[in-house]
Amino acid sequence: MAKAIRINRNGGPEVMEYVDVEVGEPGPGEARVRHHAIGLNFIDVYFRTGLYPQPLPAGLGKEGAGVVEAVGEGVTEVRPGDRVAYAGGPNGAYAVVRNMPASLLVRLPDAISFETAAAMMLQGLTVQYLFNRTTQLKRGDTILFHAAAGGVGLIACQWARAMGVNMIGTVGSDAKAELARAHGCTHVINYNTEDFVKRVAEVTNGEKVSVVYDSIGKDTFIGSLDCLRPRGLMVSFGNASGPVDPFGLNELASRGSLFVTRPSLFAYAATRKDIEEMSADLFGMVESGKVKIEINQRYSLADAAQAHLDLEARKTTGSSILLP
Ligand code: NDP
Repeated sequence: MAKAIRINRNGGPEVMEYVDVEVGEPGPGEARVRHHAIGLNFIDVYFRTGLYPQPLPAGLGKEGAGVVEAVGEGVTEVRPGDRVAYAGGPNGAYAVVRNMPASLLVRLPDAISFETAAAMMLQGLTVQYLFNRTTQLKRGDTILFHAAAGGVGLIACQWARAMGVNMIGTVGSDAKAELARAHGCTHVINYNTEDFVKRVAEVTNGEKVSVVYDSIGKDTFIGSLDCLRPRGLMVSFGNASGPVDPFGLNELASRGSLFVTRPSLFAYAATRKDIEEMSADLFGMVESGKVKIEINQRYSLADAAQAHLDLEARKTTGSSILLP
């Protein structure tokens, strides 16, 4: 038996229960991982509320770091004693110990701590694919990136700076603006006090941007389209304010033949090769010091409900972890 968070129904943070669960031996292709740290991500909120459906009862959490305790039949990727981390697979990372598909585990370089790994795998691999795979950003490109002081956001600020990309970031407070700027965001807009569409036009002398990365969804989607140059790319990758309302394709034509994509990390990190390549790129960025993972909130696993409350209330900055 081991402690874990379970939900029996969808709803607010109160539906999360801290209970004892049976873990058992790893099955074929699985490894049992004892977590040293667990990542907190906005996607966990979507699964908790039911915006992203899953059969119940269920676990929560897509990201963790720890040590392999045992492996099942046929596992070649990791061995007992390995330091590993992952982002993806079945929900259930909010747990002291769990079984995981071994093909999703990557071995950690010695220089990367468990806490850093748990804080960065999901958010860092997301920036890796958004900037290099969804489209290949080049030095000198100008992009708009919403929620620039969040977990994904602060990694994006630093990654963009390292690539020589001009990043215009939006944030919800002046303190967050400072933080984004300090991490390399070229221009920061407080979208609670300023009209971000107008400001993007001003900052770019009317040229607007070639790519918008929008994880806010409902509240910003149409404004984000207005920030794009003709033939620009709208990357709608999240729904922090709610899902995007249905829209007509003419919205794209009338703004100059725009492109839209709705990507998910798990389609980009779909094969062992992708996971290894993307992780190696992320580890390189962190080990070189180009990207520093900011863990600005730590909670005990038992306090996962408080972590969700803070994340949804926009009180967090950078990355957050749960400690078993
Ligand atoms: P963040 O740390 O960025 O937290 C979310 C932030 O969104 C808040 O801090 C807040 O920043 C902003 N926000 C704006 N409107 C709202 C609202 N109504 N309610 C809550 N927050 C709001 O979270 P993550 O780094 O974990 O994730 C960022 C986004 O990226 C999420 O939408 C997530 O789902 C998405 N994502 C998508 C992936 C994919 O592959 N598609 C993978 C990983 C993440 P502010 O106060 O500055 O506005």
